[in-house]
Amino acid sequence: MFDPYKIREDFPMFKNNKQMQGKTFVYLDNAATSFKPQSVIDACNLYYECETANAHRGDYDLAFKVDTKIDEVREKVAKFIGANKEEIVFTSGASMSLNLVAFGYGFKFLTSDDEILLTEAEHASNVLPWFKTKDLTKCKINYIPLDSEGRLTPENLRKVINKHTKIVSVAQVTNVLGYINDIKEIAKICHENSTILVVDGAQSVPHMKVDVKNLDCDFIIFSAHKMIGPTGIGVLYGKFDLLCKMDALMTGGGNNARFDMCGNVALLEPPAKFEAGTQNIAGIYGFGAAIDYLMNLGMDNIQKYEHDLRAYAISKLEKLGNVIIYNKGAENGIITLNVKDVFPQDEATYLNSKGICVRSGQHCAKMLVDFLKTVGTVRVSLYFYNTKEDVDQLVEALKTGGNILDAFF
Ligand code: PMP
Repeated sequence: MFDPYKIREDFPMFKNNKQMQGKTFVYLDNAATSFKPQSVIDACNLYYECETANAHRGDYDLAFKVDTKIDEVREKVAKFIGANKEEIVFTSGASMSLNLVAFGYGFKFLTSDDEILLTEAEHASNVLPWFKTKDLTKCKINYIPLDSEGRLTPENLRKVINKHTKIVSVAQVTNVLGYINDIKEIAKICHENSTILVVDGAQSVPHMKVDVKNLDCDFIIFSAHKMIGPTGIGVLYGKFDLLCKMDALMTGGGNNARFDMCGNVALLEPPAKFEAGTQNIAGIYGFGAAIDYLMNLGMDNIQKYEHDLRAYAISKLEKLGNVIIYNKGAENGIITLNVKDVFPQDEATYLNSKGICVRSGQHCAKMLVDFLKTVGTVRVSLYFYNTKEDVDQLVEALKTGGNILDAFF
């Protein structure tokens, strides 16, 4: 059975940070990044300590080993999300993946007659690259209205999608409100309207089973560091024909078949087409170990555990008269709140004084503040290694969290 206390033994951050500000260390900022188990750290070290060589087909055993490993991890990632190996492009992370689609597909195919649909709840990384596409192509950007709770509903997409809509780009789970969007239905609506669906999976892939073939999304992007993997490595999944059609944002060594002095260039097929230059090879090693760890726990078990822990947290937080919760009904482990009459950053500073790490502010979703009618929020985000004790400590601290001066006494 799922035992978070046992699981914590695998994560050196817990051993090395038993105390924070003299208090038990409580990490509740997993939507920003996650801790890494020893197996991931060991896998990265293996590359540096025993298997250092560049990829791209060297002619000696050590280089073969690296190529084979990258291939194996690509296969593992593909299996993890139900894709084919050729559809998995390694990038530096979710932001780079979204930029790649915005430039490689959006810039290449959109015109001033076209429209991109987003929502107000999107992260900056799923907004700003599209703004750039708009600047370059003169296409339009419009927004699918959120419902009264802040959810993206298929009905609202149906109301606004039209013959000009060429791309819909939305998160499967948004990073502030944490609702799980019905991507399968959204994909169906997009395809009925000959529209491409780009899914920001940065907050979903680490927490739930995602099967791209079942969802039928055209692209999905995510980062390893939010799913117990290393920083600086992430994924762009794209349907193979779309990857073939779109442009490579970067070119250079490793992504071309040949070129000549006249400027004729033949690029390799995807995914190599998008992977110019030396990659984060240690990161790829570590990413493979992260996926092994998650698959061993089981994504359904992880999702259920986080769901139950969230329900426990909500039941306790609701009893506090001084806490406003903005996303009570969310299915994911993100809880967005404010303490009445306390500025969110002051609250986070106060919680820090109790050894509790949370995020405050606008969480890179700067268009959402108008919807929430607040300058910012405190975001608590759970992962499978959090415990009821973590939640109890948070709740205890929030009870007295009304006065920032308490932080210093
Ligand atoms: N999308 C969402 C929903 C996110 O939460 C984040 C990270 N906060 C990103 C994209 C960007 O991820 P990264 O910083 O790893 O590129």
